[in-house]
Formats: sequence, C-alpha cells, structure tokens
Amino acid sequence: MQAFLCKHHWVIDTPNGPLSQGVCKLCGLENTFRNSLPDMGWDREHAERFLDRLRLLKSISEAEKAI
Ligand SMILES: [Zn+2]
Repeated sequence: MQAFLCKHHWVIDTPNGPLSQGVCKLCGLENTFRNSLPDMGWDREHAERFLDRLRLLKSISEAEKAI
C-alpha cells in the first residue's frame, strides 16, 4: 500500500501529554495527533480566538438591543 493512496487506519498510542504518536496500520505512515479537541482539529489558540469572536458577536447583538 502506497501512503498517498492509503485512506489510513490510525493506531494511536495511549495519550501521554498533549500529543500522541500514531501509525497507520495499512501503510505504516507515522503521524502526531493532538489529544485536545480531536474532533475539531483545533489547538488551544484557535479555540480561544473562536471564543473571543463569539464574545464580540454577543456584545454587538446586545448593543443592537440597546438601540
Ligand atoms: Zn495509511
């Protein structure tokens, strides 16, 4: 199986800190996975930026209500 054709079936090590080492069962490719917010693929910095944006939108909508 060539790595660039592989759909990858990741076998990920037991979490040890913020990152986990994983290896593809099919092609043997190695990759590093973040343990926090795995579904979003975000790191903390991105998550905080998103929350800041939400707070900003909330303050705008509250300001509109006041008008
Ligand atoms: Zn693979």
